[in-house]
Amino acid sequence: MSELQIHQFECLSDNYSWLVHDPDANVTAVVDTPEVGPILQALEDTGWQLTHILNTHHHFDHAGGNEELKAKTGCQIIGSKSDAARIPGIDMQVGDGDSFTFGTRKVEVFDVSGHTIGHIAFWFPDDKIIFVGDALFALGCGRLFEGSPAQMWHSLQKLTALPADTTVYCAHEYTQSNAKFALTVEPDNAALVDRARQIDAMRAKGVPTVPTTIGLELETNPFLRPQSEDLQRTIGMQGAGEVEVFAETRRLKDNF
Ligand code: ZN
Ligand code: FE
Repeated sequence: MSELQIHQFECLSDNYSWLVHDPDANVTAVVDTPEVGPILQALEDTGWQLTHILNTHHHFDHAGGNEELKAKTGCQIIGSKSDAARIPGIDMQVGDGDSFTFGTRKVEVFDVSGHTIGHIAFWFPDDKIIFVGDALFALGCGRLFEGSPAQMWHSLQKLTALPADTTVYCAHEYTQSNAKFALTVEPDNAALVDRARQIDAMRAKGVPTVPTTIGLELETNPFLRPQSEDLQRTIGMQGAGEVEVFAETRRLKDNF
């Protein structure tokens, strides 16, 4: 089995999108369709032919280019069963626990509702890669537009159950501002302080901070660390439950 090839590129002001190419089967997916122009450019740059769109959720900066790309390429659109009515051009509906074949790979689907209801993530177990859309970010998590804190916490736990060396592709370059917030709630986390410094250096050179890994997020992302005594103390939630601490962390970030 040849290695899956991933081509990451920027769209809109701070979105990422990816071409995922399986050389053994000559299939290529784009993960979300924020903007058609850069996606067509990426296809031209790589010489790959688009066969699939994998949609994480219905927001315009994730599914806005679906119909134009489908018309141009005849690709198949795979998206959330429980959000199918809001995914333009959807051909194949998948939900939590489903798997499907992409070239020589099996792809497993997780429902990670919270940012939206019906938000899904795509896990490639053979490659230890997951595309999480706006559910989890480097040092952050998605805003709760539709779901409850308990629901989002449940969703995030599906992601943190993956191997620590899983590569996580999140859909926005929000890491530097996420780091500023994270430092206010867990100032004594040495791994976080260190990472924030690295992020500043990377962004100063225009280097993407995405992808990340599950292991790195578990060590430094406050939204995955409601058990942290440092975090609990800083936000005045000592001894509170995980969902309550997570909810308060999310509320503080919304007002940051
Ligand atoms: Zn979104
Ligand atoms: Fe988004």
